[in-house]
Amino acid sequence: MTNEAGAGLVVVGASLAGLRAVESARRGGYTDSITLIGAEIYLPYDRPPLSKGFLAEGASPDYFLTEEELRTELNVDLRLGTFVDGVDTERKVVTVGDQEIPYERLIIATGAEPRVLAHLPAIDGILTLRTLEDARQIRDAIGEGSNLVVIGAGFIGSEIASSAQARGATVTVIEAAPVPLVRAVGEVVGKAISALHGRNGTRLLTSVQIDEVIGTDHVEAVRLNNGEIIPADLIIVGVGAAPATSWLADSGLEMSPIDGGIVCDAFMQTSAEGVYAAGDVAHWPNGLMDSTMRLENWTNAADQGTQAATNALFSEKAKKYETVPYFWSDWYGNRIQFVGTAIADSVSFVSGGPDEDKFVALYRAGDRLVGVATLNEPRRIMKYRRFIAERGDFDRAGDILQPATAASSSR
Ligand SMILES: Cc1cc2nc3c(=O)[nH]c(=O)nc-3n(C[C@H](O)[C@H](O)[C@H](O)COP(=O)(O)OP(=O)(O)OC[C@H]3O[C@@H](n4cnc5c(N)ncnc54)[C@H](O)[C@@H]3O)c2cc1C
Repeated sequence: MTNEAGAGLVVVGASLAGLRAVESARRGGYTDSITLIGAEIYLPYDRPPLSKGFLAEGASPDYFLTEEELRTELNVDLRLGTFVDGVDTERKVVTVGDQEIPYERLIIATGAEPRVLAHLPAIDGILTLRTLEDARQIRDAIGEGSNLVVIGAGFIGSEIASSAQARGATVTVIEAAPVPLVRAVGEVVGKAISALHGRNGTRLLTSVQIDEVIGTDHVEAVRLNNGEIIPADLIIVGVGAAPATSWLADSGLEMSPIDGGIVCDAFMQTSAEGVYAAGDVAHWPNGLMDSTMRLENWTNAADQGTQAATNALFSEKAKKYETVPYFWSDWYGNRIQFVGTAIADSVSFVSGGPDEDKFVALYRAGDRLVGVATLNEPRRIMKYRRFIAERGDFDRAGDILQPATAASSSR
């Protein structure tokens, strides 16, 4: 085995969480070496547009930084197209083939990978979406008059449906559950936002599954378990993602039996000293929500990557990573936003309603406001996020909808 530079800070995963970790290290004054290693050949780019503008409007990839900024300004030893296949936390090295790269501090930010459906045949025309490469293939395959079947009415599947619809494709979304998105936003809001499909010309079929994919070399149609046959030039499997941890199988790092994420403490340190994790791959106790969790959203990956690096490198500034989860999603020109948790006793609409194109829905657990879902109400949501962080009483949550003067006079 050969040793290859490294030491100092090594970050595995050159995407949002990994990049934010690197930026946070340099911003905090870290002058030792930083090595950023990513399996993809591309400079770090933003994933959310892949299912939105990139597909719908043919937008260009959205790179966060130029190579010059990364290599020269941030002084990062950048290794793209490099899959890390292991880590020895005793000897403090990561391995790439027969090379060993030593580290003093390691941040794991390897994100998540799409789940696949093992029973689908290995023929052309069945894709998942996670990477720029995936998005390019999907973009090339959809267009005016093409038939798209999306398996799974989750956020990414729904965004792809919406983008394909904008490109003139005929889209059918197939969902096994009676109501989509229940785990993410609960039944009431799951139903309300899924109705956007029907209102925009996409066929959503719930409580159905695919019995058979028809086609020899390339997909031609799908047969559902209710007997219906739907023509398909392309099938997108959008049934969620799993943390990208297979390369850690022999690492001895503790993994969550609940969601497969890397178990971290409140400071994002894993079960190995000096090894931290951040982003979609990390499972940690979130003090603000009184629960351990693994999140798959942009804001968490960015903030957690930033904090993990601070905690790893600057002990005097170390603090617990706590957050009120926040995500957004865009379908058919509508913005869906959610903060907090959908685990609640009740959900009530305080503005608009489930059949309207704008609403604010509040989630109540005991006396507290624990979650908020909005449709096309972008200015309200961050106020609610702060309110949940402050553990605000549900009865005062309505104040946020009042104009500023009325809200302050009622307190
Ligand atoms: C299509 C799409 C749309 C989305 N839209 C939204 C949205 O609208 N709103 C929202 O809040 N969130 C959205 N998200 C989620 C958000 O993009 C993710 O939460 C975020 O990208 C997670 O960042 P990450 O750095 O943790 O992981 P990732 O972005 O998954 O990056 C992990 C990187 O690590 C690399 N890697 C993995 N294993 C190894 C290894 N062993 N060695 C080296 N490199 C490795 C991967 O190749 C990858 O580049 C979307 C995600 C996708 C895929």
